[in-house]
Amino acid sequence: MQKHSPPTKPENIAAIATAHGRGGIGIVRVSGHNLLELAEHIVGRQLSPRNATHTAFSDADGTHIDEGIAIYFPAPHSYTGEDVLELQGHGGSAVLQLVLQRCLESGARLAQPGEFTQRAYLNDKLDLAQAESVADLIDATTTQAARSAMRSLQGDFSKSIHQLVAQLIDLRMLTEAMLDFPEEELDALDANKRNFKLSKITEELDKVLSLAQQGSLLRDGAQVVLIGQPNVGKSSLLNRLSGEDIALVSDIPGTTRDVIRQSIQINGVPLHIIDTAGLRESQDKVEIMGIERTRATTERADVILLMLDARNKINSDDEKILNSLPQKIPRLHIFNKSDLLQDGAPQAVVNKNESHIYLSAKTGAGLDQLREKLLSLIGWHNEGGVFMARERHIRALLSAQKHLLQAAQEVAQSELFAEELRLAQENLNSITGEFGSDDLLGEIFSRFCIGK
Ligand code: GDP
Repeated sequence: MQKHSPPTKPENIAAIATAHGRGGIGIVRVSGHNLLELAEHIVGRQLSPRNATHTAFSDADGTHIDEGIAIYFPAPHSYTGEDVLELQGHGGSAVLQLVLQRCLESGARLAQPGEFTQRAYLNDKLDLAQAESVADLIDATTTQAARSAMRSLQGDFSKSIHQLVAQLIDLRMLTEAMLDFPEEELDALDANKRNFKLSKITEELDKVLSLAQQGSLLRDGAQVVLIGQPNVGKSSLLNRLSGEDIALVSDIPGTTRDVIRQSIQINGVPLHIIDTAGLRESQDKVEIMGIERTRATTERADVILLMLDARNKINSDDEKILNSLPQKIPRLHIFNKSDLLQDGAPQAVVNKNESHIYLSAKTGAGLDQLREKLLSLIGWHNEGGVFMARERHIRALLSAQKHLLQAAQEVAQSELFAEELRLAQENLNSITGEFGSDDLLGEIFSRFCIGK
């Protein structure tokens, strides 16, 4: 589909825009048309555009429900592009419910999750990637994630996509003009020129993809599987790594048969640690089922950590587990308790596929090296200018990249070349929402909170 146009006379929608619970101020927001009239029902006077008016909010019989600030933003200069009314009162849940109820009596209906932002998108106030970054900004749990979501909201990500699309359109026009006028003399240089332009676009797309992958790491984090016998120091290490940065530690208590997850962050990048206490050899039927579940979880891991006591060697139990795990996932062997070694810790060994790090969760020695190694194993390079991106953006960029690579194979065949460029452009357009499905919109906006 192409982007839908907004309904000409949309229903008025209302919601409490501030978080649930007690607060100094609470805001009820209304969006739609003719809101001056609706406002007059509640505040008993004509509001002037974009002025903060201190006023009472009244019931139908004139009883004051609350008092506060009313602001009216006439269309199109508002968040949604429609008339918007904000009633800023006291932040108690009962009083806000009364104000909301009054808006509903005056002709508005309750807003769906994300409906304000969806209207902003339909009215061209934001593109789809920006609309998604509104939710990501609200959901950001680290300052880095918030900063990169803000960059996307300001349009940095969309701008890079638009630039790529503009260059693709240029190249498509050049190619399609040739298809339309086949009798024109084909300059031998044309293929070279197309090749050159295509490789420039591919290069830029690679850069955008890399920044988006970083943003997606900041948003979703990486899955890390931690294997180790009891008492090697797994909990001590996790506590160390969490340190004071701890933002989202969530212990989901489980028996030894369950996967235990804990989330920590390193330099603002969330790592979801899966403690595989259940990955032991077992005869017990229920336990075997648990082990299978754990194994399935590890299939999706980004890194496997094997933790050992530095005084011991890898034993046969650990070997068995390691051999049964997917070989393609990078591994790191951590030798803990290096402080107990008589001759001091050996130098860490780091090679391509497998790294060994000696550290002490007790003294903190070797921890920085571990942090650095972990971040590099999950693909974090701490680039500047990272913008927030989602899995769907990465998929679209990868697909566009695939079509550009295919186009490079077809330079001599203009029709196939043009078709690959068209498909690449379609993928890029799906990121900013110029091309997409209704289902996709439903999926994106239903995950927002109500009132946004
Ligand atoms: P887990 O069962 O693998 O989670 O291990 P814990 O983190 O509970 O640690 C088991 C014991 O080893 C505790 O008494 C810790 O204080 C101790 N321990 C953990 N790490 C170190 C270390 O680096 N050096 C020393 N000396 N003791 C440690």
